[in-house]
Amino acid sequence: MFANQLFENYENFKEPKLLNRRFKHKDILPLMVNRNTDIFKITKIGKSFEDREIFMLKTGRGKRKILLWSQMHGNESTATKAFFDIFNFFENPGILQKETTEIINSCTLYFIPMLNPDGAERFQRRNAQDIDINRDALRLQSPEGHLLMKYRDIINPEFGFNLHDQDIWYSAGRTKFPATISFLAPAFDSGKTMNQSRKKSMQLIVKMTEALQNFIPHQIGRYSDDFMETAFGDNIQKKGTSTILIESGGFIGDIEKQVVRKLNFTAILQALYSVSKNNFEKKSVSDYESVPLNKKNILFDFILKNVAITKNGKTYTADIGIRSRSLTEKDIYEVGDIGDLSQNFAYFEINLNHKQINDISIGQNADYLIDKYFNNPNPV
Ligand SMILES: [Zn+2]
Repeated sequence: MFANQLFENYENFKEPKLLNRRFKHKDILPLMVNRNTDIFKITKIGKSFEDREIFMLKTGRGKRKILLWSQMHGNESTATKAFFDIFNFFENPGILQKETTEIINSCTLYFIPMLNPDGAERFQRRNAQDIDINRDALRLQSPEGHLLMKYRDIINPEFGFNLHDQDIWYSAGRTKFPATISFLAPAFDSGKTMNQSRKKSMQLIVKMTEALQNFIPHQIGRYSDDFMETAFGDNIQKKGTSTILIESGGFIGDIEKQVVRKLNFTAILQALYSVSKNNFEKKSVSDYESVPLNKKNILFDFILKNVAITKNGKTYTADIGIRSRSLTEKDIYEVGDIGDLSQNFAYFEINLNHKQINDISIGQNADYLIDKYFNNPNPV
């Protein structure tokens, strides 16, 4: 199966210059302008609010047009990394040459990596205007959002891939399993009407979930399809482009999202191959609907269970949930919840069996608790 071959041979394609989440425009610039121009046509399509150049890389000569854009939110960099792996794949597919040729002959692919370079510079969601580009699809006051819609309209692609990262605390259903990859075929109206275009998004998602099932059983989620008037996915779907949202979530121990990147690489290429083989249109919408819905805030990074907390001279039992927060330069950990967290889960848990911790409150820095209980070989 193609997806298995992609996954097994991934190291041949992985872009070695992008190994963390906080790379910037200057890091990807040489990886765009120095590419093999026999394979990719590279065009400067515009600039961000702070004048960073935004590029489009085009490959293929087929009828089926597919537009893919990443990192509309500046701190959601996983799919950008996967794009560069995909570019390497198209340039040197190795034993997958036959499949690559099929994709290239059937499809024309348009990639826009890092749509929000100013946000990436600060490792923040919003652009330099402090606009959330994904709420600017109607007014188009951000140069980046304007650019995306302009090229959507020029290309008028059959498929659109809207690539994001979601909080790592989403679970796939109300379970302990993180939603490592989540999909959505966005609605184009508040009635969540089904039409042929949206149905194709769902069918292609089913192909991708089948491809990933071997690698992350239980860890695939479905994002809520509540219609958002001002979001890009919803509006691009409305224009008749079958749109697919992929949200890269958490995976145990994968802080820099290298595993999730590999899953993106696999899922996206599987989708492109499925379009070129036209083998997704028999998939059923009910298979899409059976993917568990994402549940927000079920997970924590860490939970300390059964802590005897002492405050104001009184002692009580509670669990302490800890979550990371991403700043421009690094992540910090904070106390996210205190109380009965027996219905929650964490990537890492420890039972403190009524060991005492003094004076703790929500929002407090928790780095010292992690060092003491999780980074210490003999914690309790
Ligand atoms: Zn996002």
